[in-house]
Amino acid sequence: MNLQPSSPVLRPDCDVKPGLASLVGATRAELAAILRGRGIAESEIRMRVGQLWHWIYFQGATGFDQMLNIGKALRSELAAHYSLARPEVVAEQVSQDGTRKWLLRFAPIGQDKGAEIECVYIPESDRGTLCISSQVGCTLTCAFCHTGTQRLVRNLSTAEIVGQLVVARERLGDFPGRIAPTDGLLPSGDTRPITNVVFMGMGEPLFNFENVRDAVGVLADGEGLSISKRRITVSTAGVVPQIAALGREAGSMLAISLHAVRDDLRDTLVPLNKKYPLKDLLAACRAYPGASNARRITFEYVMLKGVNDSPAEARELVRLLKGIPAKINLIPFNPWPGTEFECSDWDKIEAFSEIVFNAGYASPVRTPRGRDILAACGQLKSETEKLRARARLAAEA
Ligand code: SAH
Repeated sequence: MNLQPSSPVLRPDCDVKPGLASLVGATRAELAAILRGRGIAESEIRMRVGQLWHWIYFQGATGFDQMLNIGKALRSELAAHYSLARPEVVAEQVSQDGTRKWLLRFAPIGQDKGAEIECVYIPESDRGTLCISSQVGCTLTCAFCHTGTQRLVRNLSTAEIVGQLVVARERLGDFPGRIAPTDGLLPSGDTRPITNVVFMGMGEPLFNFENVRDAVGVLADGEGLSISKRRITVSTAGVVPQIAALGREAGSMLAISLHAVRDDLRDTLVPLNKKYPLKDLLAACRAYPGASNARRITFEYVMLKGVNDSPAEARELVRLLKGIPAKINLIPFNPWPGTEFECSDWDKIEAFSEIVFNAGYASPVRTPRGRDILAACGQLKSETEKLRARARLAAEA
């Protein structure tokens, strides 16, 4: 299929009006509290939560009237006070390689004005990965990352994190009985469109620990969205004090954005390193609950020309990771407007990969996906920021 990269589609009707609270994204405990609040008898709560859960997360119901095994009275009671609204899709872009990027807008909560984030879907022949965001913007200011140049930052709620998967499943026809779109590539055969979730979009997940942990619980629930914890990866720049808790309480897979093997260089690339240096970070990885040869920790390493890509650094990487069940993901640097970094030359990346591979580690080079729509790693930045800047310029002219 020959796909043209599409330009962003802006929907004129996507203004989010503060309305009824949505149940999409709620945890079981939140649904139970809501039902209690509506006067449902304690003896019925568990069963009713189970029914709602099935409709919301397994069936992807869009209206309470679809929930046929729930009595009419309760259905109308819920419909009067709650909605099943998903985050608004403000824009959708499809890359030539089938990667999709959505700009999502969340409804305002209280004083908050609502927020916009980007979420990316990457289809491969045997799997489909959804890359989701945990914060609006990011405070880390990693030198090579575009997302870090965005100013506005806030944590996403559990519901806003879960909402990303619900929207993506809907857009991809990945709920029972729905039809998949024909304008993009999807995994082949019986493989479901979305099999994996990575917290590698905007934000630092471990700065939003509780919401990320609870969201992992909802995503992994076998009676609902059913993404196994082995297929959910939380990526961190190295918030050391939260790493053990992630393993214990969320039980997800762990990825570390390493990018450098010496503190002096890592201090400049990933400023968080000044607070939590390599020694502490690697000690936390060694102790990560649940890590084993079957559940390896992923180390991400962005290949920056002349900065971190020498053979000596590859050997040092191998030495540092000794004793940690690890795989190493080499990421060709994705350029963005205004960056001073360049991607390493291909033979440098290959030589680096070979040293790591010969030391016994899987060292795949991550194929850049969705570059034509700025959907690749580190390129995410709210599209509306650019649109607003354009509007400002037009107003000043
Ligand atoms: N804050 C978390 C989650 C973001 S993950 C973390 O740092 O792990 C996004 C991944 O893409 C990180 O590994 C990040 O370092 C990497 N990345 C950022 N900018 C990039 C770029 N321009 N090219 C390639 N990878 C990049």
